[in-house]
Amino acid sequence: MEYKNNVGIDLHIHSNASDGTLSPSEILALAQNLNLAAIAITDHDTVNGSKEALSIGIPPSLKFLTGVEISASPLPSFPYSGSFHILGYHIKIDDPLLNKTLAILQEARKNRNPGIIDRLNSLGIDLSMSELLSEVGDAQLGRPHIARLMVKKGYVESISEAFDKYLGKGRPAYLDKYRIDCSRAIEVILGAEGIPVIAHPFLLNPRDVAEIEDLIIILKKMGLRGIEVYYPEHSPYIISQLADMANRHELLMTGGTDFHGSLKPEIKMGSGEGDFFVPYILYERLMESL
Ligand code: AMP
Ligand code: ZN
Ligand code: FE
Ligand code: FE
Repeated sequence: MEYKNNVGIDLHIHSNASDGTLSPSEILALAQNLNLAAIAITDHDTVNGSKEALSIGIPPSLKFLTGVEISASPLPSFPYSGSFHILGYHIKIDDPLLNKTLAILQEARKNRNPGIIDRLNSLGIDLSMSELLSEVGDAQLGRPHIARLMVKKGYVESISEAFDKYLGKGRPAYLDKYRIDCSRAIEVILGAEGIPVIAHPFLLNPRDVAEIEDLIIILKKMGLRGIEVYYPEHSPYIISQLADMANRHELLMTGGTDFHGSLKPEIKMGSGEGDFFVPYILYERLMESL
């Protein structure tokens, strides 16, 4: 199969194994419909989405990478306020240490949700864990599911309003959850023969590009292999800065939309808010590096 330069990929997709709304089989079908050349399912703290996609069978026209997105705790020297996520690609999904580590994170998530519900209840919002579980099933339940239920019950107009008023960091129903150190996240991904990549660096809310470079130098010493350069919320300027950084430090470049289905309705698979595009060559380079 020959791929032209204009063929796109999406290496950051959430399925309903975490807080996406499409099943792995629906994701494979949509990716095919959109003529994407390669995708990765990168669920929060679980490889069940990737596992299910593999067991269904990947269509021959599509390349597929297993993936995961692990939430890490900030380094003491880089106490950013934003999301610090490490992506792992081409991981062995049956790796025992990876699965043991993810089980710990899943447990932490489980323990956090009732606390968020308690806080919401004390703010006069009537929601229960059983309601939430009956909505979501056995996915990695998180704040987006709670936000969706709040919309459904009419407490807020939108998921983003739920985050802005209640669930986001620093808001009254926010509860932190246990995270692993980034060094550990990187180590576990490498141990599963995967490629660790820093996700959406600008969602960390750094002061400037230089701060990100300092962080990336430290992460590279821990074993980081790539930077998620292409991301819908990265401006063209940020993308060019991150691409230069990847070149300077001999790191791979990746990209994806962070597709979540109807939980992030403005983001379309492969194209973000419309004109977003990740070139296929990045997938090829990633595979060549294995
Ligand atoms: P959790 O796993 O519970 O920490 O929730 C993380 C998820 O919440 C990620 O998928 C984010 O995309 C989503 N999220 C975080 N902040 C916001 C926000 N302000 N508006 C909408 N979604 C958000
Ligand atoms: Zn998510
Ligand atoms: Fe993320
Ligand atoms: Fe994500």
